[in-house]
Amino acid sequence: MDKLQAVKGMNDVLPADEPLWRRFEETVAASMRSYGYRRIRTPIVEPTRLFVRGIGEMTDIVEKEMYSFIDSLNGEALTLRPENTAGVVRATLQHNLLHEGPQRMWYAGQMFRHERPQKGRYRQFHQVGAEALGLAGPDADAEIILLCQRILDDLGLTGISLEINSLGQAAERRAHRDTLVAYLEANQDVLDADARRRLHANPLRILDSKNPAMQSLIEGAPKLVDFLGDESRAHFDRVRSLLSAQNIPHRVNPRLVRGLDYYNLTVFEWVAPLGDTVLTVCGGGRYDPLVEMLGGKPAPGCGFALGVERILELMREQAIDTDPSQCDVYVVHQGDETLAAALDAAERLRDAGLDVLMHAGGGSFKAQFRRADGSGAQFAVVIGPDELARGEVGLKWLRDEGGATASGRQRAVALSGLADAVVDAMLAEGESD
Ligand code: ATP
Ligand code: MG
Repeated sequence: MDKLQAVKGMNDVLPADEPLWRRFEETVAASMRSYGYRRIRTPIVEPTRLFVRGIGEMTDIVEKEMYSFIDSLNGEALTLRPENTAGVVRATLQHNLLHEGPQRMWYAGQMFRHERPQKGRYRQFHQVGAEALGLAGPDADAEIILLCQRILDDLGLTGISLEINSLGQAAERRAHRDTLVAYLEANQDVLDADARRRLHANPLRILDSKNPAMQSLIEGAPKLVDFLGDESRAHFDRVRSLLSAQNIPHRVNPRLVRGLDYYNLTVFEWVAPLGDTVLTVCGGGRYDPLVEMLGGKPAPGCGFALGVERILELMREQAIDTDPSQCDVYVVHQGDETLAAALDAAERLRDAGLDVLMHAGGGSFKAQFRRADGSGAQFAVVIGPDELARGEVGLKWLRDEGGATASGRQRAVALSGLADAVVDAMLAEGESD
């Protein structure tokens, strides 16, 4: 049989990466909670038409990136979700959540896009996102941006810059569009095939092109901000002043249009150098038209989606601190008669809230201590027949301050008081750091 391999562009996340993922996930969960956002979990598979309607037919995603298939059992057209905003809005409408008032929600999980795999771009990747539904004011835009900025800051990341723009409302985009199409038509020869196809259907999308040959053309294109009416401009200015009041640096990027069709007013992206390119690590904005596009009573919304793999890559590059340990305590034991006592000691330690790895598979004390060391545990609990006969176990310090392997300080403690002794020792170590 051929060697079985994961699908191209879809990666395994191995246990060695757990410390990084854990730091990320715990930071996200804490930040979301601190803004009153509650987690929502929607299916990975949705009806294809949800994305066609919600994301827009002329987008990269719907045109060429979706994993769509026909359910062979009932002929339904289904798609692996390429993003989660459409799914969250669908669920909100299906369960009538807005009836209870505005909703602040977040999600995390796998997304699927058929792209050419490369650093920071995969076919299965993860996003974490937040959505505020039912809130129309610029304060909601500012809150969403502050929330995302807090996640990036709490992770300890630096060098990520925030770009912001306003897409105004449909009528303003139409006025801009006529001028834009005239400009692009006058420069037909520079347009690539994608751009020619979109010239009349969705010319704004052309500004989002990554084709280097078109960059100077795009640079000189008429700017949407110059077509904003008073209300749109006031909304944009208010968002910006709220951000400035919170010392959130941001740069207006008139070319920022975002890849999805449902955005209006505020759009934003955080960009960061990754390797030798600049990648967007997070994007979002206001999408007031979406709820109605998906069949609901009109209701405003805004949110962001953060690319988890790109953030983790930045965390690796910036050597962000993570806790590599697998457990607090490693239980070393020898002799058949000690097994039940060792297992019991491990359970008591877990009762006390400690993470415990119980040695399995036998072996000499020396071999077991090697494992104990490799686990990153701060302590080993040593249980042998002689100690046990005295109702005692050995408590051995595995780390010096700073985490280096310790000289092997060890003392005997009563089995009955083991959990208290370990907790006290951990607290004492914590204080001496
Ligand atoms: P790009 O312009 O890089 O293709 P996008 O505009 O398609 O990004 P969004 O749909 O806004 O991306 O998704 C939000 C975030 O999800 C992106 O900023 C990025 O960090 C991440 N992301 C998008 N596509 C991928 C992918 N194929 N692999 C890994 N991360 C991705
Ligand atoms: Mg894309």
